[in-house]
Amino acid sequence: MSSFEVVPLRAFADNYIWTLRDARCAAVVDAGDARPVLDYLRTEKLELVAVINTHHHADHVGGNAELVRHYRVPVYGPHDERIREVTHRLADGDRATLPHFGIEFEVLEIPGHTRTHIAFYGAGMLFCGDTLFAVGCGRLFEGTPRQMHDSLAKLMRLPDTTRVYCGHEYTLSNIHFAKAADPDNQALHELEARAKKLRERDLPTLPSDIGQERATNPFVRCSEPAVVRSASRYAGKELKDPVSVLAAIREWKNSF
Ligand code: ZN
Ligand code: FE
Repeated sequence: MSSFEVVPLRAFADNYIWTLRDARCAAVVDAGDARPVLDYLRTEKLELVAVINTHHHADHVGGNAELVRHYRVPVYGPHDERIREVTHRLADGDRATLPHFGIEFEVLEIPGHTRTHIAFYGAGMLFCGDTLFAVGCGRLFEGTPRQMHDSLAKLMRLPDTTRVYCGHEYTLSNIHFAKAADPDNQALHELEARAKKLRERDLPTLPSDIGQERATNPFVRCSEPAVVRSASRYAGKELKDPVSVLAAIREWKNSF
């Protein structure tokens, strides 16, 4: 594996197109828009070697067609015909080695936000699209609370030090909600102070890491008594299992 860095390119209001790069080449994750990618490749004099997709939403795949017109590169993504440009369709447990960089990713199926959402895990990095956010999770557009719960639990089994590259800059608004759902959690207040400083300087709050999510993310803390209590209060009845707690706080957050 050559040495590389991971650069966030911004797209739309709050998307990140995570870009792996070294001195010569680049690979992009979830290029919803080709423009910022093409501009970056040109100014940095880089050649594109691969496109990676986590799920079919336009703000994650909208740049595919134009990118593959400019560069004939493999496109790694889920088994989902809604993403037409995918050349390598991947299922749970599959491995994909990124050309040039030699990074081997393991594919994790993590349905919930969408039916066919996948994540890429390798070299201590997790690219998880819109399933896991810093201090939050994606909306349940095509999945059930049970699926989202199991997908998040799967990600939480990765090492604490795993860097988490999410699809959107939602951290501060997620913290705002998390303080209501998990009010006694001191780690949230510490994280909020750090995140605010970064956002004041217009810097990303990402990547997060799995240890931080375990400590701060109410959607992975659905068995913690404080989260169960506030979810039960919101639901108006005593919730007895983590899936019901997740369902309640996801609904709560939708209108928070
Ligand atoms: Zn999405
Ligand atoms: Fe998105």
